[in-house]
Amino acid sequence: MQHRPVHRLVYWSRQTPAVALNLDTAVADILAASVANNAPAAISGLLLCVQGVFLQALEGPEDAVRTAYGRIGRDPRHHEVTLISAKRADQRLFADWSMCARSLTASDKAIVDLLDAKASFDPRRLTEPSALRLLETVAVIQRRTAQAA
Ligand code: FAD
Repeated sequence: MQHRPVHRLVYWSRQTPAVALNLDTAVADILAASVANNAPAAISGLLLCVQGVFLQALEGPEDAVRTAYGRIGRDPRHHEVTLISAKRADQRLFADWSMCARSLTASDKAIVDLLDAKASFDPRRLTEPSALRLLETVAVIQRRTAQAA
């Protein structure tokens, strides 16, 4: 995708208990819908699942990003959907993926180290820089994993 100004929106939400119990299946469903909808709308992004929380970045044309966020916000698979930031950005950070989902595991040490509250992850403390730092670190690991495969 081209490097030109885009709108980037970052939010977090809490997974419902049913989703948290069957996270792999739920995320596979979400990812399938996301890729199908995001690709034609020129949206790219990353979805992170960590300790019952979703953290997602959506980037693309402003109207398309707002429309997608509106749909996502009505989705019963999560609640407490909380906007962290939504603004113009110079370039995409997650251009590799229409949407990529990664669940954080204990072995993702570089990421775990970024969660400064080591024992439990509190999304209410996320700021735009800390959320993007986390998502960008996940993106680096995801690219390395893909190259190694
Ligand atoms: P339809 O498929 O017609 O579904 C109707 C309603 O049912 C919608 O409210 C939908 O949210 C809900 N629904 C759909 N499937 C299920 C299910 N398996 N269980 C319970 N309810 C369901 N969509 C994108 O297009 N791009 C994204 O980047 C994206 N990211 C997401 C991130 C998260 C954390 C979540 C929870 C969802 C995400 N989605 C994303 C999915 C999005 O919320 C919609 O389900 C999807 O876009 C289809 O929307 P629709 O209006 O066509 O719904």
